[in-house]
Amino acid sequence: MIREYVSGNERVFVLRDLIEVRIPENHYRKMAGKYSREYIVSSGKPRRVLHHITGRDLVYITRESGIPLLGYNAFGIIDRGNTLLQIRPVTGCNLNCIFCSVDEGRKSKTRVTDFIVEPEYLSQKVREVAEYKGNGLEAHIDGQGEPLLYPYMEDLLREIRKIGEISTISIQTNGSLLNDELIEVMEKYVDRINLSIMTLNPDSISRIYNAGYPLERVREIAERIALNTKLDLLIAPVWLPGINDGDIKKIIDFALEIGAGKRAPPLGIQKYIPHRFGRKLKNWISFKEFYRQLRIWEREYGIKLILTPEDFGIERSRRLPDPLKKGEIYRARVVSRGRLSFERLAVVNERIVSIRSQKNPGKYVKFRVTRVKDGLYEGVEVS
Ligand code: SF4
Repeated sequence: MIREYVSGNERVFVLRDLIEVRIPENHYRKMAGKYSREYIVSSGKPRRVLHHITGRDLVYITRESGIPLLGYNAFGIIDRGNTLLQIRPVTGCNLNCIFCSVDEGRKSKTRVTDFIVEPEYLSQKVREVAEYKGNGLEAHIDGQGEPLLYPYMEDLLREIRKIGEISTISIQTNGSLLNDELIEVMEKYVDRINLSIMTLNPDSISRIYNAGYPLERVREIAERIALNTKLDLLIAPVWLPGINDGDIKKIIDFALEIGAGKRAPPLGIQKYIPHRFGRKLKNWISFKEFYRQLRIWEREYGIKLILTPEDFGIERSRRLPDPLKKGEIYRARVVSRGRLSFERLAVVNERIVSIRSQKNPGKYVKFRVTRVKDGLYEGVEVS
């Protein structure tokens, strides 16, 4: 589970293919005679901890870190006041899609920090939130990146499956990391995989993903999930006008051919929406145009493509209270850098607040809460 090599003047340890610990070689040599390798990897200093896939600083969130798992959209839990709980264990992606709403991947120009959450801490918090919200919940594992990069996925799923209030577990993936072993794990704990495939044309891969993508293997695995497992499969392409128009019908054909959608709908075609800090495409269409085309395909294929939360059994449900209000002013210690270069995280009333500030972690920042939405909090530094 630990790979070790020397790179330049650093000793590098890679844990579970994701957590990269770098220690200057001269310090490593001094420690090596006195301490075990495990001790050096977990506590040796000085050190840098990086996300092995993206190359960015990686912050490991544990209960002891004092960083809560509510309030921030990059990791932890998001409760939007319905029965779908979004659970985000890790950030970072192995692809660099040209339309990515969070500008993910190694080629990102805006993301500077990644996060990973300890599985026991996350599952315990999911349990607390689920007990508060009540029965009939869907735990949806997604994130700013590829959730299957999370190296403790089985541990997390096992614990979430034990929570009585959660009746469905679903997971979002770009499919590139799926393999037989992971499918076995998924079959044990997961009800549905939402697989985002953007094209079935090998010639479009580098243009869309801006990275390698094992298309043939993903096709085979999708077929296997649909045909040979009890897992439900929802194929969820993003329609990128002017880029994959011709692919969408082929993806619909493929989803229907392999029998996606055992219980939920087989397809969840998504509209490309340019996001403030995401990658932007030149072309996009209006919602009116998008739904007009979906209705045409619905008639042509005789299937439902315009989906609502009810199609997934999602209903309104008791929401966690908001302990912060818009306009309030607080002073709190910066506990971490955020995902974006101008963003810092602070903690107030057991919620994370994302603040526009340049203060270093450890310093105090005075800020006004500027946005409170869906249990997510933003603020801006004030003097
Ligand atoms: S797979 Fe998803 S998170 Fe990763 S780059 Fe593509 S759109 Fe972004």
